[in-house]
Amino acid sequence: MTADQYVVATGFGPTTKLLAQGLNHAGLSNRQLGKRFSANVGTAVYAMFEKPIWPAGSARPEPGVTQCFIVEGRHVEENGKVVEEPALENWFHFPGTVALALTGWFQHFACAMRKFNHLSMAGIVVPTHVRDCNYVDECGKVHVSLNCDEFELLLRGMKRIAMIYFAAATPDDPVTLYLPTKAMLLRNGCPAVIRNMDDMEWALGEIRRRGPAFVNLLTTHGQGGASLGDVVDPESFLVRTDSGHQVTNLTVADSSLFPAGCEINPQLTVKALAKIAADKTRGRLEQGRVSKA
Ligand SMILES: Cc1cc2nc3c(=O)[nH]c(=O)nc-3n(C[C@H](O)[C@H](O)[C@H](O)COP(=O)(O)OP(=O)(O)OC[C@H]3O[C@@H](n4cnc5c(N)ncnc54)[C@H](O)[C@@H]3O)c2cc1C
Repeated sequence: MTADQYVVATGFGPTTKLLAQGLNHAGLSNRQLGKRFSANVGTAVYAMFEKPIWPAGSARPEPGVTQCFIVEGRHVEENGKVVEEPALENWFHFPGTVALALTGWFQHFACAMRKFNHLSMAGIVVPTHVRDCNYVDECGKVHVSLNCDEFELLLRGMKRIAMIYFAAATPDDPVTLYLPTKAMLLRNGCPAVIRNMDDMEWALGEIRRRGPAFVNLLTTHGQGGASLGDVVDPESFLVRTDSGHQVTNLTVADSSLFPAGCEINPQLTVKALAKIAADKTRGRLEQGRVSKA
């Protein structure tokens, strides 16, 4: 199948792969392809309240599929220093996925899962910065990691969520936190119980000591790989080659175009960029028709 113009808009992973294959096939290359990848790396904290969150007979759906609420990032003073706290998101997951994420042993785990209607969840969102180690490879596989500052931001997000949940707890409805660790946190040989900020500070110390690999992390809002400026010409939206030429029939129109992460949901910007790319492509097609006539 052939066409006068090709627009690649398959999302950052497949787009990088398709561009790598296409350039390679034509004997061309762009060494910047796959670079400048960034994403929001996140995790969730689970809070088990003593009482059900929605009482029996509540008109609300149980357990309640919520719309997204964002608590914006902020700067706070901590020990005489101004530090950043990341944005937080409310979070919803079905029992099946919560069961995969929640740590717990046998009977204790079964009890926690039976109390799904007592469970509230909140997520932390940490935007990664542009670094060489964060990239999409030629097979479309994403490589992304947090550096020390970003990991610390994630921990501050967990702490912020803990403060919110402990503030919401009452003497007759206390809360126990479950942290997103890959294995059970053990304290003096027993599963750690996190019921106040002292417990939380201890847990954060343990997680900090064991590093990001000890935390269940997920990635959303991936951006970059075919960045405007390095891989795609910012005027024409055509793919560039190492020699500085533009591939005259190859346009990119998706989240790969971002030269850096925008930290928040990129979808509206993706749509705006795709509209510009479409207009440029249509202009080229019309120009081609005029010159053929
Ligand atoms: C868990 C999650 C939550 C999110 N939440 C939000 C949110 O609340 N608000 C928001 O604004 N954004 C959100 N986003 C981000 C948003 O979904 C993305 O930023 C946006 O979809 C990126 O658009 P895109 O066009 O780059 O890629 P995509 O939307 O992924 O589109 C690529 C399309 O190409 C198709 N495709 C892939 N390979 C091929 C191929 N070889 N041939 C043909 N077709 C192919 C795919 O099936 C897909 O339909 C979320 C993303 C995730 C992962």
